[in-house]
Amino acid sequence: MTAFSLEPEQLAWCERLRTLAAQRLRPLADQGDPGHVNRPLVAELGAAGLLARLFTSGALDLCLMRESLAYACTEAETALALQGLGAHPVHAHGTEAQRARWLPRVSDGTAVAAFALSEPAAGSDAAALSLGAEPDGRSGWRLTGDKCWISNAPEADLYTVFARTTPGAGARGVTAFLVPADRPGLTGTPLDMLSPHPIGALAFDAVPVTADDVLGEPDRGFRVAMGTLNLFRPSVGAFAVGMARAALDATLAHTRAREAFGGTLRDLQTVSHQVAEMALRTEAARLMVYAAATAYDENAQDVPGRAAMAKLLATETAQYVVDRAVQLHGARALQRGHLLEHLYREVRAPRIYEGASEVQRDIIAKELYRTTDTTGEARA
Ligand SMILES: Cc1cc2nc3c(=O)[nH]c(=O)nc-3n(C[C@H](O)[C@H](O)[C@H](O)COP(=O)(O)OP(=O)(O)OC[C@H]3O[C@@H](n4cnc5c(N)ncnc54)[C@H](O)[C@@H]3O)c2cc1C
Repeated sequence: MTAFSLEPEQLAWCERLRTLAAQRLRPLADQGDPGHVNRPLVAELGAAGLLARLFTSGALDLCLMRESLAYACTEAETALALQGLGAHPVHAHGTEAQRARWLPRVSDGTAVAAFALSEPAAGSDAAALSLGAEPDGRSGWRLTGDKCWISNAPEADLYTVFARTTPGAGARGVTAFLVPADRPGLTGTPLDMLSPHPIGALAFDAVPVTADDVLGEPDRGFRVAMGTLNLFRPSVGAFAVGMARAALDATLAHTRAREAFGGTLRDLQTVSHQVAEMALRTEAARLMVYAAATAYDENAQDVPGRAAMAKLLATETAQYVVDRAVQLHGARALQRGHLLEHLYREVRAPRIYEGASEVQRDIIAKELYRTTDTTGEARA
């Protein structure tokens, strides 16, 4: 297939996922406690086979899942994505024992995973992280410090934790550890966000870890983090595209039906042109997301730049589209419980997490200069 058209089977799969999200996942999401892990919802994602697919399918399938679920149930989309983000390092870098212990439970939704990179003093500049791993015995460490803005914390069952094993070494002195939630010294507190997102802060008080808990190699953990983000960045874009498409479709329905000035809103050209612009930008974002995911699946050289472009364009586009949709709906969009009131709150965070928009521009520029020579030609 090409990046620009989906196969009939893929389109049919997306349709089935939207139906699943609307009929089976939406009711479970509505019963959840906002801001907390919704275990029945996670279990249903497992029962539907979607969590297992996180580890068997590629980046494009991940995007199609996230876009389709987001269209009808952002909470389900986020629960799926967080299982992937937290457990992908185990899948890609874990030992046989680590994989055997955790991946079946993450896949059936009985274990909840989290990805703990950000700290109070190291967000965008993640390589400055300071949660310390002090040597303890022949092959162990003690983790001491804080993580914050960690999705699924403090309720997750396993954490991929990035800690500093070599002080002063920047990105080269970071190790990824798989830390089960019941390790002594690990505590956490929930944080209350604008959108209903399970998230919290973690405090590590000399939490013991051993060589058996390392994901990948000591001091090579930053590569684990960046590899995971390269896979997930286009799919954050897919989440945004799913929200934009939901906002666009709601706007089409509303402007077609809403009567004003002797006709309907769609009869006003300033309205229909705004709808056209929303569709144009959403489609451009969708294509760029699929292209970046396809590049990842084909192991292309230009994945970091493409992933950054896709995430940047799609998240900024979704913000624009949802805002336009609110405007064209008028007051009803702002009423608590309206789809657009929900999307208006949901759409904001993806422009900040997994690299803020400014960080994506940094990556795009760095890749451009890295891959071209002084004349601007691509390097051989
Ligand atoms: C809903 C949500 C879920 C999250 N989930 C997780 C998670 O599961 N795991 C995890 O580890 N983290 C998570 N985070 C944290 C997220 O990754 C960080 O918020 C993000 O990396 C930005 O860090 P910061 O908030 O400390 O902002 P800062 O790094 O302080 O940046 C603030 C602002 O400064 C500007 N800025 C920063 N760097 C640059 C630059 N190089 N050039 C120009 N401008 C710049 C940007 O406008 C940026 O938004 C989550 C955040 C949110 C909101």
